[in-house]
Amino acid sequence: MTTLSEFGIRTNGETDWVNITGQVQKITAASGVSEGICVVFVPHTTAAITVNENADPDVPRDVNFALNCISPDRREFRHGEGNSAAHTKTSLVGPSLTLIVTGGKLLLGTWQGIWFNEYDGPRTRKVHVRVIGE
Ligand code: ZN
Repeated sequence: MTTLSEFGIRTNGETDWVNITGQVQKITAASGVSEGICVVFVPHTTAAITVNENADPDVPRDVNFALNCISPDRREFRHGEGNSAAHTKTSLVGPSLTLIVTGGKLLLGTWQGIWFNEYDGPRTRKVHVRVIGE
């Protein structure tokens, strides 16, 4: 069995971390797949996806701060759109996740959540979810 779904997100601010765990869990539960894999894919070049702590809001804030330190805006950048720092953070974090589905649910650690990362917002974004299994 396999299903393909998508949903939209409106991000706030130039950088933004949006917790999308609930949406992905809901799609997984509705897929009818009990044992399998869930692939979450972000089709953008200045936004990414990651798994990180979902309990303390200072964690996403601090990781975002660290990413901004690793990839600040630089006058040496050539890309005419002026958002090379955002493109760099997107490459560091990545466009997709592969998660385990068991018992009809995503297998995540107690403190883990799925975070959509905006680096060049605010924008309207998309997330694709493929659930495969039996
Ligand atoms: Zn660009």
